[in-house]
Formats: sequence, C-alpha cells, structure tokens
Amino acid sequence: MPEVARPRHLAVLTSGGDAPGMNAAVRAAVRTALAEGLEVSVIHEGFLGLTDGGLAIQPATSASVGGILHRGGTWIGTARSEAFRTRDGRRRAAANLLERGIDALLVVGGDGSLTGANLFRSEWPELLGELVEKGRLDAEVAASQPQLALVGLVGSIDNDMFGTDMTIGADTALHRITEAIDALRSTASSHQRSFVIEVMGRNCGYLALMSAIATGANWVFIPEHPPALDDWEGALKRTVAASRRIGRRQNLVVVAEGARDLQGDPITSEHVLEVLSEGLGEDTRATILGHVQRGGSPSGFDRNLGTQCGYHAVHQLLHSDPGSEPKLVGIRGNRITTSPLMAAVEKTHAVADLLEQQRFDEAMALRGGSFADAWETMKTLVRAQPRRSTTNGDRSLRLAVLHAGGPAPGMNTAVRATVRAAMDGGHRVLGVRGGFRGLIDDDIDELEWMSVNGWVSQGGAELGTSRVLPTGDDLDKVVDNLRGHGIDGLLAIGGYDAYDGAHRLWEARETHPALDIPIVCLPASINGDLPGTELAVGSDTALNSIVSAVDKIKQSGVAFNRVFVVEVMGKDSGYLALTAGLATGAEKTYTPEEGLSLAGLASDVEELKEGFRRGQRLGLIIRGERADAVYTTPFLWALFEKESGGLFDVRQAILGHLQQGGDPSPFDRIQATRLATRSVDFLLEQAGKDEPDSAMCGLQGGQVAFTPLAAFPALIDDDVRRPKEQWWLERLRPIADAMALSAHR
Ligand code: ADP
Repeated sequence: MPEVARPRHLAVLTSGGDAPGMNAAVRAAVRTALAEGLEVSVIHEGFLGLTDGGLAIQPATSASVGGILHRGGTWIGTARSEAFRTRDGRRRAAANLLERGIDALLVVGGDGSLTGANLFRSEWPELLGELVEKGRLDAEVAASQPQLALVGLVGSIDNDMFGTDMTIGADTALHRITEAIDALRSTASSHQRSFVIEVMGRNCGYLALMSAIATGANWVFIPEHPPALDDWEGALKRTVAASRRIGRRQNLVVVAEGARDLQGDPITSEHVLEVLSEGLGEDTRATILGHVQRGGSPSGFDRNLGTQCGYHAVHQLLHSDPGSEPKLVGIRGNRITTSPLMAAVEKTHAVADLLEQQRFDEAMALRGGSFADAWETMKTLVRAQPRRSTTNGDRSLRLAVLHAGGPAPGMNTAVRATVRAAMDGGHRVLGVRGGFRGLIDDDIDELEWMSVNGWVSQGGAELGTSRVLPTGDDLDKVVDNLRGHGIDGLLAIGGYDAYDGAHRLWEARETHPALDIPIVCLPASINGDLPGTELAVGSDTALNSIVSAVDKIKQSGVAFNRVFVVEVMGKDSGYLALTAGLATGAEKTYTPEEGLSLAGLASDVEELKEGFRRGQRLGLIIRGERADAVYTTPFLWALFEKESGGLFDVRQAILGHLQQGGDPSPFDRIQATRLATRSVDFLLEQAGKDEPDSAMCGLQGGQVAFTPLAAFPALIDDDVRRPKEQWWLERLRPIADAMALSAHR
C-alpha cells in the first residue's frame, strides 16, 4: 500500500438509534488505534457532544473501554442533534476537534448519521476558513489540518443499509424477536390462539421476514413485498382456517411496522387483528414488540461483527489518504469489506424511494439475492399443506434424512425444512432414527407435514443421532433398507461423522450399485470443523451459550482479582474457542491449531501479572478442549495460580454439554432452513440420473455452495479431523490479540 499521511488523533462517536454491538465497535476501534500508536478520544452523546465539546469529548484508554463488550446500547451515549444540521453547529464541531488535534473521525450510526458526518467532512476546509475569518482559529493550525479523515460503520437494528449484509445490532434484535415469538407460540398453542406480532422495520422487512422463518410463523407482511392480491384479507383468512383444519394449534402473523398493500396503504397490526378476530372468529391477540427489540446484551455475532468492523475501520483510516472518499466498513459474503460511504447511503435511500413509489420489484432486487430467496423459502414453509404439484416430471421421489455426529442446535430445523420443501414438490421424506445405525437396522419411518410442526425452534435432534459409521457387512443391510424403502436420495445432516459416513457410502457404490443415489451432507456441528463450508449450523447457538455463560462467570469474579480459565468444546478445531474468545473479551485464547508451549505460557503469565500490577481486576483465558494434550485446563489453572505472585487467584470452568444444548439461535434456524431447502433441490435434481452427483452443501462467501463429496478426503486433515484450510484463524487471530487488555502496556 502507498505511504499516506497517518492520522494522529482519532475520535469515535455513536449516533442515531442505539444498537447492540456498538460498544464492541467502539472498544475495538479504541484499542486498535492505541495499538497503532494513535491518540484516541470518545465523543459522548453523538453529534450533540461533538457540537457541545467540553467534557463530552474525553481521551480514551484501553482500560476505559473495558467491561463494555457485553452491554447493550452504547455506553458513550447517542442523541439526535438539531445543531449539527446547521452550519453554525458544524463549525463549532470543527473547532472542538481542532482544539484537541483530532484529525480522524469514526462514526457508528445509521444512514442519517453517516450523511451528516460526510457533509461535515466535505465542508471541513470551508468551516476552517470561516473559523479563521472569525478570528476563532489560528491560520497556521488550520493549515496543519487541511482534512478530516472519516470512516463509517453501520449500527442499526433494522439491517436496512446498503454496503453491508448485516448491520451491527440486527442479529441481536432477531434474538429478541425470536425469543418473544417463541414465548408467544407456547401460550398461543395452549389456548389455540392467533397472535399478530409487530416488529420494527419502517423500510426494511429483514427483521420481519427472518423472524418469521426462524419461528415458523404462518404469514408475514413486509414493506418490500405487499400481498399479491387486493383481497389479501381473504387469503389470510383462508390460510389460517386451513392451518386450523390440519391441527395447527397456533397461528402467528408477523407484521413489519412499514408493511403496506399494493396501493401503498399501510397494513397495520390492528387491522390484521381485526381481520382475524372479526372475519374468522379467531381468538386473536396483538403484540407490538417495540423497544425491547433494541435492548439487551449483544449476541455473539454482533459482538464479533462490531469488533471486526471497529478494527478494520481503524486500519482503513491508517491506509488511506485522509482526503480520499470516506469508506463504509461492513460485512459482505462473510468477509469484512469496505465500500464508498456515500454511494451506500444513496442506494439505501433509493430503496426507500422505490418503496414510496410502490416500485416493489425494483426495491426487492436492490435488497439482493438472499433476501429474495428467503422470501421464496418462507412462502413454501408457511403453507398449511403441500401443493399437489410434482417436480421431476410426474415422479414422486423418496428422500431419506438422518443425523450423525454430536447433536447440534438447528438439526430439527433442518429436518422440518427438508420435509416441507420436498413434500411441497409432491415428494416423500423418510426419517432415519439414530444416524447410520437406523439405516443399518431399518429404523426408518415416513415423516409427514405436521409431524415436524414446531421443530423449527427445538434444540436437540428428534430423529436422534449417533457416531455409528456404515462399514463392512453393515453395507449390505444399508443396501437392503435403501432398496426396501425405495430411497432415491439421502441427506446426512451433522458433523464430521455424517460426512465420513456419507463418503463411505458414496465410495461403496462401486461394489454396491444400489448405493448409486445422490447423497448430500449438510453441515451441522457446533465445532465448525467441516469442509466445503465457512459456517456450520449449531455453532452460532453454541457461541451464544458460551458467551452468556462466560458473562456470568466474569460477573462472579468482579469482587476479586481473579483469572478464569474457561474450557470450551470444538474438538480439534479452535473455531469455537477463538470466536468465543473474541466475543467474551478473553485475554488469551488457546486453540489446537496453534497449540501451547511452555515458553508461550510463561510469557502469558508475565503479561497477566503486568496487567494486574497496573490495576486490571479480571482476566479471562479461553482454552479449546484439545488445545494441547499435556497442558490441560487443570494444568493451566495450577500453573497460573502458582505463578501469579499473589496478584490474582485462578478458577477454572469446563463448560461442557451446555454448549450442545439449547434452542437454536435465529441465525442457525435461518441457515438450517436455507441449506436444507437447497439440499432438497439438489437431491431432487440428481435423483434418477445414471451417475448422480453427491455433494457437501455449505455456505461460502455468504452463498449456498455444493462441493463434490468426492473431495472430502482431499479437503481434510484426517489425523485431526478438521479441514486443511480454515478461513477464520488468519482473519480473527490478529484482532483477538489486538483486543486483549494486557496487550496494551
Ligand atoms: P440514523 O443515523 O440512525 O439514521 P438520524 O437520521 O436521526 O439517525 O440521524 C442522527 C443525527 O445525524 C441527526 O440528529 C443529525 O444530528 C445528524 N444528521 C442526520 N442527517 C443529517 C444531515 N443531512 N445533515 C447534517 N446532519 C445530519
């Protein structure tokens, strides 16, 4: 990269609506900037603090951003500022920055805040000129700071911004919404009630659509896709009546606050309530979720998104000309990316304008492919019963589905989507119980549309799972059973054992021609150790379970000078350890990929001691369960305790199976649904071909991708049962290191 003038003093502010994860972004930006030798200040109360100056602008230290990662909202406050909309206000803001030598600004906010910040930056030379003219600024000082460098991050629960697939805060809002709808579902079901749930999103149906998919709602209204019929009330009533007839005990209708009909008139939750209660005589209640959606501790994803964006935003400033066009740092295709800030804001406004003009298709197209895909998936899953049509000519195919490996939250969600997607096309799905063992022992039953009802949100694995692999004589039994049930394709949902078992069946087709059916592996494992995919279903839930457990553990230690050594799962992969280390603010994270050495441990002890000498009160070490065969968690506990020099005491916590349990997170439900519906399409397309393809389904760069199953052995390191290439280690390790408090001396 070319040499550019480095900023010297960075100021960070949060503005607009608050969003969980903003704290992570501020903390990361402050610590990264300090690590890079910059001076850093935080500006309290957003642009209000910027125009007011005084005590609102405070120097920040690494320690001053400690203990905020787990907190919701934004600890430096946010406010709307009318003054900043005026030239005079922005001139005062410029004076406040100049006074302190601040030459770079990081703004975390929505499109309004980023527009305001960009205007401020572009006016900077003129504002300085005016200050000099008024005698409020020395011309020499003005000349020394001809530009203000600016970088933007999007903090917004609505996920309504162009330039990033996810805004900081949207995932947490989805958590709040799914928790609420799950709770409503159980009471609705007990009383056979209907619930209308209104969620936030004036111009963006993301929260409504994704929460509807994640909770198995039967209808959703979003701004981008008004109901196709003028008489949508009639269609809604027919759907609800049909679900009652097939035995659904509860009806859930999700309404985005900005939902509208084809004429552009609002569809309100009150109106939907009237339609259901008066038109259908349903016992219906409405719940407007309101501000709870903004609140609460940020999810693991939002902590890590905020942290990564904060880190990269500072590097963006360091490596670009301060006079160049400001950038927005976001995430696209599971990678942190930058894009021109104002172009992103303009496109965001363009979507809102298209909605205003009722040009819905164009608005939907601007939202991107996965949004439109999610809408299509939603339409299939919400049906009360399958359509009668068939695909693949008029042939009705029979797909088998099984789990293998350890349980992963989201397995049930994937089976539900498999059953409904296949049945909707006129096909049948057979559930195999207990993994490959069920395929050997003929423990196989047909699943029905309603037999998977409610599975969308259930943790565990209703079909059961095991680590049994099909080998030797068992293969003959598998062949008999596949033939006996007329199975045309197999979906193996699970972890390493699912892949291993599926690959064995695939290899055995040479000697057992009946095995020449398409097989798809769907990644479901908390370990995140599967080839052909960047993310596995279950690992997000496990991350969140770890995060909430560690938050509690950390709270228990505040009264003491204490270091916790927390052991997390992950087998031979450090994915869970490193993502959890980042999300919980661990000082150190030990992974099997990197291993442990005595010299490294000795230096870590010294670093911790130094931290405590300078006033640190709490230390956290996350150790992946197989980080090292000799330096076990009890060993680390004993070592740190012995070597602490009386500066801290040490406690160990082995989190154990709570990490495999729990209801799946919204993200895991959405991905399970997405991967399962695409896997079904793949199997149906391949079934009946002479030489059908078999594949590992996965997410790559944010897209669903299929990698030939034949590549399994080449992609893995068999000794340690993990992929040879792991994208996350290189990307997250430097960030985790820069975040550790003890790294800042
Ligand atoms: P969000 O950032 O969440 O979209 P707002 O639209 O309320 O929130 O904007 C937050 C603040 O950003 C406003 O109170 C104002 O101070 C500033 N702002 C927004 N738009 C502009 C603008 N066009 N010019 C100057 N400042 C603006």
